[in-house]
Amino acid sequence: LLQLYRQIFGSLPNKHQYDVIVVGGGHAGTEAAAAAARVGAETLLVTQKIHTIGALSCNPSLGGVGKGQLVKEVDALDGLCGRAGDWAGIHFSILNRRKGPAVWGPRAQLDRERYRKFIQSELLSTPRLTVVEGSVEDLLVTEPNPEEPGHHKVTGIRLENGSDPISASSVILTTGTFLTGSLFMGQTMSPGGRIGDAPSSAGLSRTMRERLGLRIGRLRTGTPPRIVKDSVDLAQAHLHLPDSPPTPFSFLNTHTRCKPEEQLPCYLTYTTPGVERVVQESLHLNCHIQQDAKGPRYCPSIESRVLRFPGRKHQVWLEPEGVTSDLLYPQGLSMTMPPDIQLRLIREIPAMHRAEIHTPGYGVQYDFVCPTQLSPALQVKSTQGLFLAGQINGTTGYEEAAAQGLWAGVNAARWALSMPAVTLSRTESYIGVLIDDLVSRGVTEPYRMFTSRAEFRTSLRPDNADLRLTLKGFEEVGCVSSLRYQEAVRVRDSLHEALAALQSLVLSSPNWKKKLPDIHICEAKNGMDVLQYSDVSFEMLASAFPECLSPYMEFSQRLKIEAVYKRHCDLQRKEIARIQKEENMSLPQDMDYISLPVSLSNEAREILDRVRPSTLGAATRLQGITPAAIVHLLHYVQREL
Ligand code: FAD
Repeated sequence: LLQLYRQIFGSLPNKHQYDVIVVGGGHAGTEAAAAAARVGAETLLVTQKIHTIGALSCNPSLGGVGKGQLVKEVDALDGLCGRAGDWAGIHFSILNRRKGPAVWGPRAQLDRERYRKFIQSELLSTPRLTVVEGSVEDLLVTEPNPEEPGHHKVTGIRLENGSDPISASSVILTTGTFLTGSLFMGQTMSPGGRIGDAPSSAGLSRTMRERLGLRIGRLRTGTPPRIVKDSVDLAQAHLHLPDSPPTPFSFLNTHTRCKPEEQLPCYLTYTTPGVERVVQESLHLNCHIQQDAKGPRYCPSIESRVLRFPGRKHQVWLEPEGVTSDLLYPQGLSMTMPPDIQLRLIREIPAMHRAEIHTPGYGVQYDFVCPTQLSPALQVKSTQGLFLAGQINGTTGYEEAAAQGLWAGVNAARWALSMPAVTLSRTESYIGVLIDDLVSRGVTEPYRMFTSRAEFRTSLRPDNADLRLTLKGFEEVGCVSSLRYQEAVRVRDSLHEALAALQSLVLSSPNWKKKLPDIHICEAKNGMDVLQYSDVSFEMLASAFPECLSPYMEFSQRLKIEAVYKRHCDLQRKEIARIQKEENMSLPQDMDYISLPVSLSNEAREILDRVRPSTLGAATRLQGITPAAIVHLLHYVQREL
């Protein structure tokens, strides 16, 4: 398909005017391009190499705690990564199972080649989307309109190959780690965005900094060496089996491409004092870690782990890179020392005492645009039609990139088609939390998603992303196909019926005892109450009341989760409604926010102290003030004043 596509289009677009141009075919760019086209915009994706579209630059995995929620939401909005994960996954597991289902983290180890090919074939067959190979040298922007001082307008792009400029109403930059990228290994530094790939043209960074006046910062990240599988003594590591059967990411899939028995295992091993010694001895040969740029705190290099927590043993996961790949990915061993020292280091781990390195680890430093300069639609506030998504906004991870890409794609298309911008709130999605955190708080280090960032996480569950987003995605946003919409409507209606059926099962306590003799039920009004008991499953209820409940067996797990969280979610909904109702409630101007005896973060206290909003509604609109902070404030004022 790729060859045929290249024969038809070569490296030139077939026209010179598009609604939307997406720069970069990474995780943000692919979702952005596909979403813009789904919304109805004639879209052009320009990326350095078509065959690296969908490449997994670092770990071959998708999802996890917080990140899995993002994948489910991208899928609910008809994005690509969930279905690609189901096609390419070779080891599926739900992380955090010991905690409640709201914070479960769907995750899969991926076959790199399958993932890349799936994304490429989806993009190359998307209606209204043209993909070309090329490097964007610069943006075309107009000077500010005297009537709107400070507002530039983007009008298109210029390619490095000297061809005619290409015009568009919107441009989305998703250049990842490529913006003025530099690669580090030992004491060598070379320009690059990823190993084997040149950095983005300096023109883009210069235009954003000098012409558009944007604040730009510098961040860094790194990747581990890839290890030859046959050289590892896996018997010395702990076997880690996948879930069987695997749970697909996509709401459209009932099973994954990989059959349960075809899944591959992962292995767990640990660092030794020898690893720490090698890191300490080679610090002077490691220029990446001597730089000022901030690295990812939650995915640190082995150097950072050892320096921050000396004397500890650290986990190293040995993960397969693909069904036919001869390589293992040692998660936890990202490193940037010279290659001979990398080899010495990994051989300090018993399972790798004879290991061979296929490709050494390396680090990358890159420019990012401080995201507080963006609107919640991910549009640069001072430049009409310019949108940014992904690592360029200071985030790290495929899932964070994909989520922003999709939302930037939607809004760039709507801008180009003269439709109003759409936003997602913190109370309805993790994507809303991610974007709100970025545009209202900014980043000081690479940002990644956690469930703890979402105040309303019991409502924002992986299992209900379709009900939260697919309907809105079709009815209000325009990025969801009617096929997916119809499926979501079917699910919504069936769940409503099933919940009504459960609520209609009203029995006295002795009668419940007769129906479920093994369960100790103290107080229950209806079937929904009974289903909240930890030792009652929907299957048990359905076999006790087959005529009423058996039509809904397909939704047994979802109904159980609904029952578990019902009380809490009802409460949250009421609190959100209460905040909306109390919008005009006055906040005393002399309130001592700094020492207020309520649960508020220091950041929230400082903002409230500085701004002193006059009403609760004004406080809700402050950047950096979360809905949870507002709830605490509301309770305090109603209780104490
Ligand atoms: P990318 O996936 O980087 O895609 C950018 C795309 O833009 C590329 O296809 C590139 O060719 C194209 N491009 C750039 N400039 C131009 C231009 N001027 N014209 C045309 N095309 C252009 N994430 C983690 O979560 N944990 C990690 O530990 C981690 N380590 C990493 C280590 C390394 C060395 C690298 C390179 C990345 C690492 N990542 C890590 C980050 C992860 O790869 C990114 O978060 C994710 O890929 C970001 O997606 P993106 O779409 O923003 O950018």
